[in-house]
Amino acid sequence: MTAVIEDDDLFVEAWSKFNELVHSDEDAADLIFHSLLQENEIECGCSSPKILREPGARCFYCASCKREVWFTAGTLLSGVSRLRAWMAVIWFKEWGVTVSSLRISKLLDIAQSTALNINKKVAIALASQMDDSAMIIDPKTFSAAIFKRSRHTPADEHPLSELLENNSRATDSSDADEVESRQAKNKRVFSLADCQQQFGISMAIASAIAFIRKYFHGVSHKYLQLYVAAFWCHVDRATWKKGSVLMACLKHPPVSYIKLLNYESPELKMMLV
Ligand SMILES: [Zn+2]
Repeated sequence: MTAVIEDDDLFVEAWSKFNELVHSDEDAADLIFHSLLQENEIECGCSSPKILREPGARCFYCASCKREVWFTAGTLLSGVSRLRAWMAVIWFKEWGVTVSSLRISKLLDIAQSTALNINKKVAIALASQMDDSAMIIDPKTFSAAIFKRSRHTPADEHPLSELLENNSRATDSSDADEVESRQAKNKRVFSLADCQQQFGISMAIASAIAFIRKYFHGVSHKYLQLYVAAFWCHVDRATWKKGSVLMACLKHPPVSYIKLLNYESPELKMMLV
């Protein structure tokens, strides 16, 4: 497992390259369009497209089938304002540079809440790319990283109490079979793992906790999955190479504010690198 490293030089390089390329929301739209072109993802639906597009536009026109296509429609970037800020968040992730919402808000001159929402939505797209090789982890192993409240944290109690609350809710549930099968699944995962793998898992969790504490100063249990996904992106440079985070966002459906507010991960998953 890659350790969390200092990356100030990388940050400076990534930010300066971004500023050379993307000065405006229109530049960001151009970057997205050209990335889609490179990936052969520009489609109008006809067999002999003749694509015409004004620089900076979020749509193109096909002179063959006379269709106008909004190329971010139906994606995570659908209709978003502050496209440059979105691209910056995506850009940093592709460079393997983790930047807090506070820093993003200052760099891009946006509200911190906006930066936080962009960060979380991009992380939802990252988490959606976890495949069957993801380990199911007991969220309690992350207790050292959980010291932020969420709307699920019981009043006047420590953020960690949310974990206990969740557990008791699960125990009280009438669907005991489901709980039992989940526990059996967890047991199976760990009993099949050999010592080396167990060590790898422990190291990965320790690195992820160090990552969360360093960059985000702790998280709430509710959004823990998103920060574990951000950690995966930070260390798995082969999977999350240049262009990959943007494509994951363009393949992910839009996430509304309400959906983000009600975000709930059924189980904590973690990709081992
Ligand atoms: Zn066409």
